[in-house]
Amino acid sequence: MAADRRIVIENCAIATVDADDTEYASGHVVVAGNRIEAVGAGRAPENLENVVRRVDASGHLVTPGLVNTHHHFYQWITRGLATDHNLFDWLVALYPIWARIDEPMVYAAAQGSLAMMARGGVTTAMDHHYVHPEGAGDLSGAVIRAARETGVRFTLARGSMDRSEKDGGLPPDFAVETLEGALAATEATVDEHHDASFDAMVQVAVAPCSPFSVSTELLRQGAELARRKGVRLHTHGSETVEEEKFCHELFGMGPTDYFESSGWLGEDVWMAHCVHMNDSDIAAFARTRTGVAHCPSSNARLAAGIARVPDMLAAGVPVGLGVDGTASNESGELHTELRNAVLINRLGAHREAALNARQALRLGTYGGAQVLGRSAEIGSLEPGKLADLVLWRLDTLAHASIADPVTALVLGAAAPVTLSLVNGEPVVENGRLLHVDEEAVARSTRDEARRLARIAGRD
Ligand SMILES: [Zn+2]
Repeated sequence: MAADRRIVIENCAIATVDADDTEYASGHVVVAGNRIEAVGAGRAPENLENVVRRVDASGHLVTPGLVNTHHHFYQWITRGLATDHNLFDWLVALYPIWARIDEPMVYAAAQGSLAMMARGGVTTAMDHHYVHPEGAGDLSGAVIRAARETGVRFTLARGSMDRSEKDGGLPPDFAVETLEGALAATEATVDEHHDASFDAMVQVAVAPCSPFSVSTELLRQGAELARRKGVRLHTHGSETVEEEKFCHELFGMGPTDYFESSGWLGEDVWMAHCVHMNDSDIAAFARTRTGVAHCPSSNARLAAGIARVPDMLAAGVPVGLGVDGTASNESGELHTELRNAVLINRLGAHREAALNARQALRLGTYGGAQVLGRSAEIGSLEPGKLADLVLWRLDTLAHASIADPVTALVLGAAAPVTLSLVNGEPVVENGRLLHVDEEAVARSTRDEARRLARIAGRD
């Protein structure tokens, strides 16, 4: 192989988020090809070969790229609706609209979601897509195409629903797939798109939606399918008191016991929310190394409650951050979740000791990599890992008077992204996406949102 081209970034603060939380007040990162070659204090050596770019990053903090662990891209075109509802009422209001989505809508919504995330420092995105109306087209293909075009690393959690109102579930009968149809389509998506290699840009997970929209059989057989294929499992769990009540009424047990009885606890599983967890639920997650996608803004927007993140971390549960779908978190930005994770957890039992800025940065980077099963590849700045990193500008009005760069990034306003690399390739420069026309995406998402509103009879 030809010698790798190198990118040198220097004169910047660095938060590596390695096991020791190593930081440098002024240091350098050397990228060779798609890997990190060196991280250290001071300037990089002058005599490196094949240096194609040397970045003077004075005034910046370099961190691992942010990793999003829970999202629903299609919701980009149904933002700002049912704004005063709890989860179940919000879902019942939105299901009939979501049941009318088609491939052009999902593609535009994915572009919008991905653009917003990438511009804000996300280098690994995910989409949990569980609405598959009959005849809607190749929705998984459309989402993956949008992710490849944006340039970010990506996990598609191929979702599904098969428990509708007639079976005691929450979604209307017309919004769900059959058990057999959901399993076959999920397996086909894994076969077509999942890449198991070290530096994969696209991976696929098996992701039935939630206990109240999925049959026990789909959970069981979905878990078997994922383990047969060697891919990860994802779903929603323990989000609200209403879900807890639903599980007790239908299954005679709480959500965590129900998941355990269906084969859904394990180190290959990560679950969104996990707000209503008692001590034994948290112990079960810790014992099985089941991961959690913490979504503080969405949990607040839908009045779901405060997840016990400090207790989960103390028990050893892997925890990452998620924006959740933008119908319940209209901003669609992950960097604001760093801040909200700190603020919202401090409203809980642990008060000011709940989470600090460095723990929040770890949740948004290494924690996310852990729950996506990729912590050997991404999530920290260490030699040999993939070059997914972000240069945050901290020397302007918004942050310049804050001495500690990690505090500035996490507790301050959303910091501008000067440069973001994914797999060693620039994706964002000076706040602008390099591979996507933001204005064109803004137009197409607006047009598709209007078309959906028209078709769904909201106009
Ligand atoms: Zn969700």
